[in-house]
Amino acid sequence: RSKDAGGGVFHAYEPQLHMAAEERRVLEIALRSAVEQGEMHLNYQPVVNAATGQLTGFEALLRWTHPEFGNVSPAKFVPLAEEARLIAPIGEWVLRTACDEAARWDVPARIAVNVSPEQLHNPAFVGIVAQALAQSGLLPERLELEVTESVFMREGTVAVEVLEKILDLGVRLSLDDFGTGYSSLGYLAHTRFSSIKIDRSFVQGASKGTKEAIAIIRAVVALADSLGMATTAEGVETEEEHQMVQALGCSKVQGYYFGRPLPVLEARALAMHASGGSVAA
Ligand code: C2E
Ligand code: MG
Ligand code: MG
Ligand code: MG
Repeated sequence: RSKDAGGGVFHAYEPQLHMAAEERRVLEIALRSAVEQGEMHLNYQPVVNAATGQLTGFEALLRWTHPEFGNVSPAKFVPLAEEARLIAPIGEWVLRTACDEAARWDVPARIAVNVSPEQLHNPAFVGIVAQALAQSGLLPERLELEVTESVFMREGTVAVEVLEKILDLGVRLSLDDFGTGYSSLGYLAHTRFSSIKIDRSFVQGASKGTKEAIAIIRAVVALADSLGMATTAEGVETEEEHQMVQALGCSKVQGYYFGRPLPVLEARALAMHASGGSVAA
């Protein structure tokens, strides 16, 4: 999902709207068999403590390499999978794979998995999470699910109930891409998120000195603090951006400055290395 800032207003637009109909049709057909063809894998991006630089965990990010089209960006194929109602089976594969891979690392690094609204509007999703944990042996507190505000925008209470049951399993929740959606803040009062992830558009804006972006990060940090939640600044690319978000009080940081999304074996090596100095909560 790309964002751009203009006139102090942050716009979110859906990249699939710009895809030609023919390209979408071809990609959708290819997506239907991508998992079973073994074309999907996960990369893991480090998340670190903003103050100490200690590794706290990783975010699992889905990668698709098609034999003909090559690497297709998740910013392109995830929205397409959501629209074509293919995200549930793909997301289930992501969850199982992330749990299996992280369980074998044998270090206490936390693993965050992105979950689409569609998955949370299915009551059976709780069982899918429980099964992924049971089959992998991953401790529930090592798993974090990242959801976006859009999950609260649809009619009905199914997603809220599913989130409650996931919390009851001992799994953590974080609120992804915060500030780019259009929902109210009310849900923050009744769903226990462990952390709020502040979208990269604000991080960039703040380091450029944009007053509005700075004000928004400040407000989100204050809100999170008073609700007992952590804040993660997303997409930190430079030392300046790191300094800025640290000064604004973000507790965790993630971005190319600290590490790109890594293949599983490299992530495991990093986790093992970091756990020599123990992985921080
Ligand atoms: P996200 O969950 O907000 O993930 C963060 C995105 O920012 C990732 O893009 C990551 O590679 C990128 N990123 C991290 N650090 C930096 C940085 O310093 N600079 C810049 N420019 N980018 C940075 P990626 O991997 O292309 O994924 C894009 C989006 O696709 C994700 O955004 C998420 O919404 C979605 N996605 C990825 N994997 C999954 C998945 O397994 N399931 C679902 N439902 N969505 C996924
Ligand atoms: Mg995410
Ligand atoms: Mg994010
Ligand atoms: Mg983001």
